[in-house]
Amino acid sequence: MNKLCKIAEKVLNCEELKREELEYLFLSKDEELDDLLYWANKIRKKFKGDSVKLCSIINAKSGMCSEDCRFCAQSAHSRAEVKSYPLVSPSEIYGAYERAARSGALCFGVVTSGRGVSDEDVARVGEAIKKISSDADTAQKEYTGDASRPLVRAKISASLGELTIEQLAFLKECGLKKYHHNIETSERFFPSVCATHTYADRIKTLRAVKSAGLELCCGGLFGLGETPRDRLDFALTLKKINPDSVPLNFLNPVVGTALENAPPLSAREILGLIAAFRFILPDKDISVCGGREVNLRDLQSWIFFAGANGMMTGGYLTTPGRSSDEDKKMLADLGLEVAQ
Ligand code: SF4
Repeated sequence: MNKLCKIAEKVLNCEELKREELEYLFLSKDEELDDLLYWANKIRKKFKGDSVKLCSIINAKSGMCSEDCRFCAQSAHSRAEVKSYPLVSPSEIYGAYERAARSGALCFGVVTSGRGVSDEDVARVGEAIKKISSDADTAQKEYTGDASRPLVRAKISASLGELTIEQLAFLKECGLKKYHHNIETSERFFPSVCATHTYADRIKTLRAVKSAGLELCCGGLFGLGETPRDRLDFALTLKKINPDSVPLNFLNPVVGTALENAPPLSAREILGLIAAFRFILPDKDISVCGGREVNLRDLQSWIFFAGANGMMTGGYLTTPGRSSDEDKKMLADLGLEVAQ
């Protein structure tokens, strides 16, 4: 039995991996990628089955951000040309939710730029969430099981930056189910990515999300210049944080950002990273989000063999993506179901 096979057996038997086994996953050679994917796929099947969770977002407030995250086109420190606008109306959020739910998204995220949002903006987002959740309750009550009139529901999530526990509790009362806040990378590397706030600030928000009793979605971004050790430390921090779902993003360098010339990750390297995360977080929902189309190209469908059980569909914050119809066709071709 080779080393990778022994590590995979341990994961499949729910045993803890040793540090040197964890390191092995991030340092494995390209020749081992086929084996890594083979085992990651088995782990995904055992812990998450064959249904894929789709999520969609609305960029509800764009640009003009005071923070200097080097990858971000919405930072006021970047020269990137992005649309800037204040928070959209509750009815626009509601309309985007309806479209996302009808296209098969299981989760819909309201995302705003900025380190955090004002109480006024929290109230506006809360208004939209209230309407979405009361409509969803009515639809559930009226649902007849008629396949020609499917029940259109998606979990409502928000990503509004650093919020206080009071703001989070208010949104939960409005019907919010999940909150998204990334840690992006390892604690060691984070200051090279952002200087205007700290890793500790991010962790503080994650604690508040948990204290408010909301589900937590927390992941990060690769291709920022981080080392394999940073990637492992990032994965281990996530394991400790214990989020419900983990979005993985792969840098799509936008002209005008500080990382506009960052060398792209290869498609095979990305697949290896997704697989390593599946080994370390075997029972978590792992979604592939930003940078999928541009970095993986023809290998997009391989993300599921690498262990992912979710993906963002229908476009990103400031860059376009594939249509949900194309993504659903890909899943059907792979014999995978869209999670309902
Ligand atoms: S990632 Fe968020 S906090 Fe950082 S610059 Fe972009 S919008 Fe601002």
